[in-house]
Amino acid sequence: MAVHAHPDDESSKGAATTARYAAEGVDVLVVTCTGGERGDVLNPHYGPAPAGGEEMAAVRREEMAAAAAALGVRQHWLGFVDSGLPEGDPLPPLPDGCFALVPLEEASAPLVELVRDFRPHVVTTYDPSGGYPHPDHVMCHRVAVEAFAAAGDPERYRDRGAPWTPLKLYYNHGFSLARMRTVHDAIVAAGGESPFSDWIDSRQAREVPERPVTTRVECADYFPQRDAALRSHATQIDPEGWFFAVPREVELAQWRTEEFELAESRVPTTLPEDDLFAGIRGTEAAR
Ligand SMILES: [Zn+2]
Repeated sequence: MAVHAHPDDESSKGAATTARYAAEGVDVLVVTCTGGERGDVLNPHYGPAPAGGEEMAAVRREEMAAAAAALGVRQHWLGFVDSGLPEGDPLPPLPDGCFALVPLEEASAPLVELVRDFRPHVVTTYDPSGGYPHPDHVMCHRVAVEAFAAAGDPERYRDRGAPWTPLKLYYNHGFSLARMRTVHDAIVAAGGESPFSDWIDSRQAREVPERPVTTRVECADYFPQRDAALRSHATQIDPEGWFFAVPREVELAQWRTEEFELAESRVPTTLPEDDLFAGIRGTEAAR
């Protein structure tokens, strides 16, 4: 179960990993907390923008269905409303009723119910910072951690189905500085223009501490599916933009994995890992 904030996050964080596991027969469910109603059209090659949040949400539902098909995964909407990315100084207040303002228990209840129904062994989400300073990403982390902690407890969320205890919780770390710098250096060394110069500068300027990577999943065979999923989100992703600026041969030569941090495990495992199901496969827990 991959828990994400908005439609398109599943295609930019851990996408090739989900495509790989789905292809290998794992039942993969992407959970999308919000409808992405407050997203702007970020693709300069997209035609006229959808008029208003409702129309945007409808377009993004179609985009999400196409992305899920590209990845070969199932997808479920949690039904919360996008908080939007506050901009300005001072920052404006978050809009009434948005996901990030919902009390934690209320926001987590539908995810607890879904965990109890879908019964995942592994849950992925974002680290406590959200991985990216969007209030919905931070909230996504909080509800996923809450659901991971509470779903197996019969005393909690008592009206939300029979308890189920997921075994491992991971944070996505696909945008590690190590990956960006390695790919950047390879492009520059080959005489090309790196798309990551500004990203690396701003990351260093903000002094974002690097989170630990415990698990690298080889998924290069699934980069084409990841790219198709990204392109499905046509309002958000410029097909000539940043996400596609690394030549495929550079990517295949330099960085064939996606990275994760094992945040919590209820099964024994040995770090580093190369499989999100390490310690689960072949055990009683898997059955
Ligand atoms: Zn997002």
